[in-house]
Amino acid sequence: HYLLILFVLLSLLLYFHLRRVQRISPIKILQRAINNDEFVPFYQPVVELASGKIVGAEVLARWNHPEQGIIPPNEFIHTAEHSGLINALTLKLLTQVEANMRCFRDHCDMPFHIGINVPPLSLEDNEFTDAIIAFIQRMNLFHIDVMIEITERQQNLIRESVLKRLKETGAALALDDFGTGYSNYAALQRISPRFLKVDKMFIDYLGKGGVSDSIISNIVHLSELARIPVVAEGIESEEQMERLRRMDVSFGQGYLFSKPIPFNAFLHLL
Ligand code: C2E
Ligand code: CA
Ligand code: CA
Ligand code: CA
Repeated sequence: HYLLILFVLLSLLLYFHLRRVQRISPIKILQRAINNDEFVPFYQPVVELASGKIVGAEVLARWNHPEQGIIPPNEFIHTAEHSGLINALTLKLLTQVEANMRCFRDHCDMPFHIGINVPPLSLEDNEFTDAIIAFIQRMNLFHIDVMIEITERQQNLIRESVLKRLKETGAALALDDFGTGYSNYAALQRISPRFLKVDKMFIDYLGKGGVSDSIISNIVHLSELARIPVVAEGIESEEQMERLRRMDVSFGQGYLFSKPIPFNAFLHLL
């Protein structure tokens, strides 16, 4: 009998312990935050360097935490991607983006594109991919182009059949963090991107006497031959912008123009 009572007590202890551990697990917290609509889209303008005009925006997720305020993606994207919660998070985000874009169209009728970040593994989920395609098609009705930004390093994880499907539906891809992968040409060939987003790393070293200037010149030359416009990421200074302009880089994005900002601030900027 004593043994039985001990066993029951231990089981109860274990049960409550597990419940506590589960309650505070990062995945549970994330799930709850998604359900509570705590994730919001911020927008960072993409600028045409020759004219200084805003031609689009990248959508960047922020966690609007009730106590901690705005939390940047490096603190939750990893957990979201590894738990698979990223799909739900992305769809919640896009619901808001859609409402924002309807509002945007009430104010402006300029040509406009948005970039959304999608990890290749998300596209393994057919339902998710359907939802993305449907979103893109609804945005097209508003004359808003949507780029699915795929990190160059991970492009090889998208299955051929998924790529084919995306291309058939007219979904446009952008190769993100271009230059940081091991197979830039292979990525270009496979993805046929609408945009090349040159990684901030190369912009950081511009004009510092290293090889960055040559790499960017080379990418621009290639992009002209392939007719795929380049977006330079992470422009922080006038000097960097001038250099990129002289190198015929078409578009840019960076703190020099604006940090990622909430939708209302973005409308104001326009
Ligand atoms: P990314 O896709 O390469 O996004 C560009 C990052 O560079 C953003 O960081 C942006 O704020 C930052 N950035 C832009 N211009 C400048 C600049 O001039 N200086 C500096 N220092 N940084 C600049 P953020 O918003 O913190 O996002 C980090 C990464 O998190 C993104 O890198 C992307 O990989 C991921 N991420 C963000 N939102 C989402 C999302 O909705 N879904 C997924 N799957 N990933 C996301
Ligand atoms: Ca991106
Ligand atoms: Ca990037
Ligand atoms: Ca980057």
